[in-house]
Amino acid sequence: MHDTLHSIRPWRQIDRRKSRRIMVGDVPVGGDAPISVQTMTNTLTTDVPATIAQVQAAAEAGADIVRVSVPDEASSKALREIVRESPVPLVADIHFHYRRGIEAAEAGAACLRINPGNIGSPDRVKEVIQAARDHQCSIRIGVNAGSLEKHLLEKYGEPTPDAMIESGLDHIRILQDNDFHEFKISCKASDVFMAAAAYQGLAEATDAPIHLGITEAGGLTSGTIKSAIGLGNLLWMGIGDTVRVSLSADPVEEVKVGYEILKSLGLRHRGVNIISCPSCARQGFDVIKTVEKLETRLEHIKTPMSLSIIGCVVNGPGEALMTDVGFTGGGNGSGMVYLAGKQSHKMSNDQMIDHIVEQVEKRAAEIEAEGAQAAAE
Ligand code: SF4
Repeated sequence: MHDTLHSIRPWRQIDRRKSRRIMVGDVPVGGDAPISVQTMTNTLTTDVPATIAQVQAAAEAGADIVRVSVPDEASSKALREIVRESPVPLVADIHFHYRRGIEAAEAGAACLRINPGNIGSPDRVKEVIQAARDHQCSIRIGVNAGSLEKHLLEKYGEPTPDAMIESGLDHIRILQDNDFHEFKISCKASDVFMAAAAYQGLAEATDAPIHLGITEAGGLTSGTIKSAIGLGNLLWMGIGDTVRVSLSADPVEEVKVGYEILKSLGLRHRGVNIISCPSCARQGFDVIKTVEKLETRLEHIKTPMSLSIIGCVVNGPGEALMTDVGFTGGGNGSGMVYLAGKQSHKMSNDQMIDHIVEQVEKRAAEIEAEGAQAAAE
């Protein structure tokens, strides 16, 4: 019910672009690897306890990889301590300063976000690449419409998808000329049309894994929508090996939104996918309040599974057929509980939240046990 829909529902099939696989620490990116979710800390990197706390919160919310800014030497020093405490691989965000790149690789960064074309002489580029090689560090080339090279702006007149693609390919060439192939690439823009066109062009021009993002997307609601449209379209086309949703919000929110986008497309599964109706006068219980409470109460569940919370019998039984646990509102202050798609028992509305949490926890434990048994066999 929770993981076989793709093989039996061909209209849900997404054929992923074939990319090379690289490693970011112990997280594979590209090839057949699951599409990873990233975020970035917004604390001062030199505030080690605050940054570690943010990395841990992001990891707890499901981040596979976290990026940390390394603007100065003190941040490179702090990075070493943060790496030691981080449950996930860290990407060091470097702009222009080749020394920071070397220091970050030495400090244990799993990946450097650095544009080789922007760090100066070929010798400096070689030094950074050598440091990355020596410390099993991959590189992310990060093209951004807002910071394109001057000669490309002159050539194209303004930031355009073609200018971004050319910038990306120029940076790629530098790494390849240095026989360095452990890299991925992003080409972000805050305009979804520009980002989508640039990503499509790059996806055709290289087999490097692609890091997707709509940059400076905005606040929680508007940024979520923009990211869902931009990233959603590309992912649907099969483009993208790792994603970062950029929001003017807590990194934990970025992780949640990243997951929700992947979950909507069936590309990644984590936690409880709640299917709920918008509610109307027919509802047998307060759907909106119930869903709000359940979202919080079920945050600890990491097992991929589905739960339907539907106000009445118009859509309730149909949705419940396709979910692991279901509740459909009825009359007289009670509703019907469905387990594994089958009608099971009645439950009063005032006890339903505790009861549903219990049923979801039970089903999650069963799914985990089934998974462990299948792996053992
Ligand atoms: S399922 Fe029932 S309660 Fe929910 S929106 Fe539809 S008709 Fe209204």
